[in-house]
Amino acid sequence: MTNHFPYEDIVKAIKSVLPENLPVVPLHEPNFNGNEWAYVKECLDSGWVSSVGAYVDRFEDLLIEYTGVKHAVAVVNGTAALHVCLLLAGVKPGDEVLVPTLTFVATANAVVYCGATPHFVDSAISTLGVDPTKLDEYLQETVTVNHDGCYNKVTGRPIRALVPMHTFGHPVDLDGIVEVCNKYRLLLVEDAAESLGSFYKEKHTGHHGLLSALSFNGNKVVTSGGGGAILTNNEDLGRLAKHLTTTARVAHPWELRHDLVAYNYRMPNINAALGCAQLEQLPSFITQKRILAKRYQKALVSVSGATFFTEPKSARSNYWLNTLLLDQNFVGQRDSLLEILGSNGVQARPAWTPMHRLPMFQDCPRMDLSTSENLVSRIINIPSSAVLGGDVLDA
Ligand SMILES: *Cc1c(COP(=O)(O)O)cnc(C)c1O
Repeated sequence: MTNHFPYEDIVKAIKSVLPENLPVVPLHEPNFNGNEWAYVKECLDSGWVSSVGAYVDRFEDLLIEYTGVKHAVAVVNGTAALHVCLLLAGVKPGDEVLVPTLTFVATANAVVYCGATPHFVDSAISTLGVDPTKLDEYLQETVTVNHDGCYNKVTGRPIRALVPMHTFGHPVDLDGIVEVCNKYRLLLVEDAAESLGSFYKEKHTGHHGLLSALSFNGNKVVTSGGGGAILTNNEDLGRLAKHLTTTARVAHPWELRHDLVAYNYRMPNINAALGCAQLEQLPSFITQKRILAKRYQKALVSVSGATFFTEPKSARSNYWLNTLLLDQNFVGQRDSLLEILGSNGVQARPAWTPMHRLPMFQDCPRMDLSTSENLVSRIINIPSSAVLGGDVLDA
């Protein structure tokens, strides 16, 4: 007996949530109905568009206020934020860093920028992020831990850090992750690029890591055009993060002096102006996105063949990208469903190609990645713009 995959029911259920007056509903669109024009205009009128300006400080203050993390440093993009987080965590050439294979390429690229090697780990079905139980079992066999850290018995290299990522905005099992990090003496850096507005047990994501990275790219929950931020509760690291991202300039009224080879990663004021206007609207964007997710969930609950992915236990997600998981027996149908959705004016996307299958990472060390492989064959992201959850569709 072969089951029929109910394409039409799925497309119908998704479309029932979406506006009818759009020829194509995009996967994720920014919304500029706040103070964006006013703040950007103020930058242009004042001439303060570049890497110094009041909006950068204000942007950082707003991030601190919203996330509750003590220090925030605004940078040019999320990838740069990850790079500096890893440098500050002490990742050195010859190290290995544990990263999920199910992530955007920036997570693994940032490891290589430090001269280190990504070591790929598997995800859990329940969170779509790093599976701490499976990772613990793997590390038990693969590493030795001594007074100065964790070593890969196979390669002989130090494993310095673990970089979990909150996939599509859904927080990973941070308690489990912290336990693994403590047990194996790994530093924790959170890739929170997708999880601004997502909370784990009442705490905003990005609190558990020594350092965390945010992104404000155009497709994220809020955007500054391009942008990112480094978050940390550690004052020294906060100060160093700012120093390393501002060419390590030594404070002086007129002398130009630098005390390290550092980076020109500071967020420009004009981007921060856009970002401030966006952050003011973050709570309402999250409300709208959660309403949209609820609608999808309701519309898809009675449809067979696929389920709507809901937030993990102990988490409140921003539902950055809404996710459909095809049933196990329909894994072969992903691309056909993507095509049918596309021809119905619904922009949908698969998950990323897993990192271990990209040419530059093919030879990197890895654990068994079967759950991630399976997830990639079953994930479909569907339209997720905040505006789709609100009553401002005609604006
Ligand atoms: C968006 C994103 C980043 C950073 O991206 P930038 O475009 O450099 O801001 C990093 N990691 C993940 C998982 C992301 O989704």
